[in-house]
Amino acid sequence: MMITLKEAATRILAANKILITAHVQPDGDAIGSSLGLAEYLKKKGKQVTVIVPNYFPDFLHWMEGADRIIQFDRHRAQAKTYISCADLIVCLDINEPARLEELAVPIVASNARKMMIDHHLQPKRFCNLTISYPDASSTCELVFRVIHGIGGFGQLTKAGAEDLYAGMCTDTGKFSYNANDPDIYIILSELLRKGIDKDRINRLIYNNYTEARFRLLGYILSEKLQVFPVLHASMFTLTRDELSRFTYLKGDTEGVVNMPLEIRGMKLSMYLREDTEKPRILFSLRSVDDFPANRMAAEFFGGGGHLNAAGGNLQCTMDEAVEIAHKALEAYRPLLVK
Ligand code: 5GP
Ligand code: MN
Repeated sequence: MMITLKEAATRILAANKILITAHVQPDGDAIGSSLGLAEYLKKKGKQVTVIVPNYFPDFLHWMEGADRIIQFDRHRAQAKTYISCADLIVCLDINEPARLEELAVPIVASNARKMMIDHHLQPKRFCNLTISYPDASSTCELVFRVIHGIGGFGQLTKAGAEDLYAGMCTDTGKFSYNANDPDIYIILSELLRKGIDKDRINRLIYNNYTEARFRLLGYILSEKLQVFPVLHASMFTLTRDELSRFTYLKGDTEGVVNMPLEIRGMKLSMYLREDTEKPRILFSLRSVDDFPANRMAAEFFGGGGHLNAAGGNLQCTMDEAVEIAHKALEAYRPLLVK
């Protein structure tokens, strides 16, 4: 059932043991929206637990409560206990159970009521209650609206405001895409009134490179980036060997796929990475204007996402993945060349 943001708030507040979860390889929006909502609900006297499928990057660990997030891949038994006790499961920043990977199994099997709050296109029906606003900048924006809509913003802590700011900032590339809605800046203004130090948060998120990560960036840009000028597209790949040469930690290449779009005229950037855990290739796509990165990801890379930020994964070798990427570029040539 599709419900409004206001109804969502009422339903959440009717529950007591609330489990919050978000997508695999959690990003700033996934962690920010989870911890932001948790902050508010704890103030309302709820028992709240946040469980994510796997590791989230170091540059998100500064958030209050981040150290209490349960990683399913490391603490399965403990996570399952919390799932079985919950009376409400709130799924944030995901539109389908596949985005939970192995965590989807106990979540889908659970008898608890489930609510999705998300901004991806084409939500699948796996929750009793669905709140889906694909035009929203981020799930953090939606969590703000849920809390604000019932007059609860006064009870959101400064830490909660920091969490929501972090997700809005990262999902819009520091408000440089998907950020034309004037409301966003009213929300930002409200968050700043909580006394958050936005400049410090930006430093914690963005000026947090290890030297190895910084050098990996140099290697990608000078050695690995292939540019196809006629197609206004680019691609780079990284194998496990290359990643380990730069002592890769998960999250180290976060955001790098955006960089080739800084080349004049670029419409599409593709990043292919060998997964360090499973035998598969992860695809990351970024585009500008109306180029449908999500359609390309769904058609060729077994994934989906937003118009301008999408991804997928395929169980194949890197050589095969590159071949598929070239096929995708050819298929979209008419849209890319113009
Ligand atoms: P990223 O490139 O940051 O990994 O992912 C960008 C966006 O693409 C995500 O926010 C998500 O919407 C989408 N995405 C990434 N990987 C997958 C995937 O395997 N399946 C689907 N459906 N979407 C994905
Ligand atoms: Mn998001």
